[in-house]
Amino acid sequence: MKRALVTGAAGFLGSHLCDKLLANNIAVIGMDNLITGSMSNIAHLQENINFSFVNHDVCEYIDIDGELDFILHFASPASPIDYLKIPIQTLKVGALGTHNVLGLARAKNARILVASTSEIYGDPLIHPQTEDYFGNVNTIGPRGVYDEAKRYLESITMAYHRYHGVDTRIVRIFNTYGPRMRLNDGRVIPAFMGQALRGEDLTVFGDGSQTRSFCFVDDEIEGIYRLLMSDYHLPVNIGNPDEITILDFAKEIIHLTGTDQKIVFKPLPKNDPLQRKPDITKAIEIIKWQPQVGRSEGMKKTFAYFNSLSQKELKKVEHREFSSFKN
Ligand code: UDP
Repeated sequence: MKRALVTGAAGFLGSHLCDKLLANNIAVIGMDNLITGSMSNIAHLQENINFSFVNHDVCEYIDIDGELDFILHFASPASPIDYLKIPIQTLKVGALGTHNVLGLARAKNARILVASTSEIYGDPLIHPQTEDYFGNVNTIGPRGVYDEAKRYLESITMAYHRYHGVDTRIVRIFNTYGPRMRLNDGRVIPAFMGQALRGEDLTVFGDGSQTRSFCFVDDEIEGIYRLLMSDYHLPVNIGNPDEITILDFAKEIIHLTGTDQKIVFKPLPKNDPLQRKPDITKAIEIIKWQPQVGRSEGMKKTFAYFNSLSQKELKKVEHREFSSFKN
């Protein structure tokens, strides 16, 4: 049986990735320091003899006994609210953590896939974003800690590939949603769903004309898995190109949840990208992947998940600090 290490295994994407690998008969060691992840995301795996969990911060030396075939590096805060609160950890996990997992991949002769992001394009000046676009990032802005950490992650990964011959893959993940998203992670889908379920107004930032393109988690994971199994070393966008304005999205959620909440407008956070949509030509050509789940189907499944949370869970919400976005 092949064996994989998943860092960030207790996170939203990491936990779904563990499920996917196990379903494909790959044994998994899940690693997480639980800063933003939660054991509840992997509770269903505790009895699985092919799964084990290690509570460890990947910024420290990683010691794994035995052989490893794959490493999937998904440890990182990924929400603007998180990287504002823990900016140094965000930078460290992208830099020191990535260095450690690449060193481990080299020592074990393992194939490694690292999680990059559409954030490396910053507030993009070309639309949709193709992989050969270099991006428009404010290095010293509030989001810079995440964007630059992930840009460094890509650079060091390519350096390990070119200099040490490590077998690397880089996925650029666009906005992804689905069950196990943290209700209080501040991102737009849990924020709107939580607000609708608590009977609060939906907070649209700016005038809501900024766009995003949301990919259902099952599609995202399938794309990542196919990339892992391919032999392609350069970055590949994985996301759903179906673009929508945040204002229209808020209206869709009000309709979906059957509530009659109002929309209220709040200041647009600093450096909030005005538009985002992946060009997925490469994914279609190289790994024969494109999303299968439309937004209405995916959002219904996601709503069912949030709706199943207890009232106590629903109340554990953190509001974004608008002032800290404006520095
Ligand atoms: N947003 C919003 N209201 C909220 C949370 C987010 O209008 O309560 C907006 C945010 O300003 C951004 C978009 O929704 O334009 C997506 O934000 P998110 O934090 O989900 O992720 P991002 O794509 O910015 O990393």
